[in-house]
Amino acid sequence: MNVLVINCGSSSLKYQLINMNDESVLAKGLVERIGIEGSVLKHEKAGHDKVVIQEPMGNHKVAINLVLKALVDPEHGAVKSLDEVDAVGHRVVHGGEKFANSVLISDEVINAMKECIELASLHNPPNIIGIEACKELLPTVPMVGVFDTAFHQTMPAESFIYPLPYELYEELGIRRYGFHGTSHKYVSERIADLTGKSLEGTKIITCHLGNGASLTAIKDGKSFDTSMGMTPLEGLVMGTRCGDIDPAIVTFLMNKKNMTTEQVDNLMNKKSGVLGISGVSSDFRDIEGAADKGNKRAKLALDKFSYTVKKYIGSYAAAMGGLDILVFTAGLGENSSPARFQICEGLEFLGIEIDKDRNIVRGKEVEISTNNSKVKVFVIPTNEELMIARDTKILAAK
Ligand code: AMP
Repeated sequence: MNVLVINCGSSSLKYQLINMNDESVLAKGLVERIGIEGSVLKHEKAGHDKVVIQEPMGNHKVAINLVLKALVDPEHGAVKSLDEVDAVGHRVVHGGEKFANSVLISDEVINAMKECIELASLHNPPNIIGIEACKELLPTVPMVGVFDTAFHQTMPAESFIYPLPYELYEELGIRRYGFHGTSHKYVSERIADLTGKSLEGTKIITCHLGNGASLTAIKDGKSFDTSMGMTPLEGLVMGTRCGDIDPAIVTFLMNKKNMTTEQVDNLMNKKSGVLGISGVSSDFRDIEGAADKGNKRAKLALDKFSYTVKKYIGSYAAAMGGLDILVFTAGLGENSSPARFQICEGLEFLGIEIDKDRNIVRGKEVEISTNNSKVKVFVIPTNEELMIARDTKILAAK
């Protein structure tokens, strides 16, 4: 069975065609600048060089059509005909409280997804456009929606409720939802496979540290708390997002600088985080490079980032009443040994001890704690596409 995984952003689209018999990737690619001049599709058949196709792509339907053409192309395609695409799995950012699990897509489901738009006005619309375009182009192929928020629907009320008037939760759905759920779930399940430990009775903290970053406390295999909130803006310091700040800063800025809601929103989402503190870049590689050369603000950005992750690890260990396993994943978590070291330094009192040599590793599944460390620390590369494909396989077969 072949599953096509689609992840639609506002002007981009990532895809993978996965053979679910052995979970191998047959082809993958990325479309950029959809609806903007200079649209480009970068397509890669497994074991072959990347091909770059530059063609105007005014909307997502045109882009998906080109992706489908690339998948069946006699030269760089991965299948002979689209009949070999058995199901499509779509990443959907926000499922609100409606979706605690992945779901087979129907018109009713699309309508329910549309009702979640006001909770994720940036992310859900392109996801839905991608689904509708696929529905038109592959009308008989079953499609599944996999939600970033779904894994976190197990959080207890004291984790997800905000200390605002309760009626706002009832009326507007203002609560913590959490994101990166597919990634947190994948790495926690992978840990269980690798260690042979049952998730039942195990306390895990997963650190998804990429351009967007979140931590999740996982107890008995279920999300117990997570750092992102009603939107992906809350929690850790991120590439360009501020994470936790005093909420009064919002009205202070609006009054003092005469800023509009859009301007404050843009400042907190696009101009803050490690970019805002360092003034250098949102990319941790650039900031680490600048800090090495003595840039004080770059060093402060890295210090603030690690300090915040450390505080969350401590608070989640307290919330769960202990910690057995700590996992690092995503761009920075998988690749930056200095960041992992700085985060774990000083957490020996919690039973976390990193082995300096084992920690010098990039993008591999490996344990990086010492033999004596009470808490086992791992690097696990995330694989959200595979997780989406697995759920799609199960639901499409029903
Ligand atoms: P992601 O959002 O998961 O793709 O992660 C992107 C982030 O990971 C960017 O900020 C990158 O700078 C960071 N990253 C990737 N590789 C490295 C590396 N070798 N060292 C430091 N940061 C890295």
